[in-house]
Amino acid sequence: LPVVAIVGRPNVGKSTLFNRLLGKRKAIVEDIPGVTRDRNYARVDRFGRPFLLVDTGGFEPASEDRLLAQMREQSQLAIEEADIILLVLDGKEGLTPSDVEVVELLRRHDKPLLCLVNKIDGPRDEANTAEFYALGLDEILPLSAAHGHGVSDLIVRLEELLPPVRERERAGD
Ligand code: GDP
Repeated sequence: LPVVAIVGRPNVGKSTLFNRLLGKRKAIVEDIPGVTRDRNYARVDRFGRPFLLVDTGGFEPASEDRLLAQMREQSQLAIEEADIILLVLDGKEGLTPSDVEVVELLRRHDKPLLCLVNKIDGPRDEANTAEFYALGLDEILPLSAAHGHGVSDLIVRLEELLPPVRERERAGD
């Protein structure tokens, strides 16, 4: 099963996106920032192409804090096993130096990378995505993991990146 990993700094909305893609009505997101210490896995079978979705604890590259260091390790493991990476950024907070660092690191992995600017809750917030183009990534998608804005566009892109089922069966997977 192809692995799709959700990575990003604490509190950007990774768990919210995880739940959104799972299609759960009730979110299982904790209110405490960065509480997802371990990786959470779920098989997502609602779209044409099934995949394994991995949620990670917050990725804070510059921090020396022990908990954050653990989460960073978890993120790195998830990135290594991922076929596709969903990088979640905070469109309300704006572009931060950490974001630039995370993107530098992800670029080295040379895997399909979708950059999601989250907390863009409606068309009026979309101007907030502009500054993220400074990251120099090919694809920046506005998203509201909490309210659903941009989710269908994300799913379309995911389906394009995921291998068709029949191709995988032929490969004996
Ligand atoms: P994580 O630490 O990256 O997993 O972030 P969470 O999913 O726990 O979300 C952190 C906070 O951001 C929570 O208070 C969420 O309700 C809020 N949040 C997540 N997605 C959105 C969004 O699309 N719009 C807004 N306005 N808030 C969001």
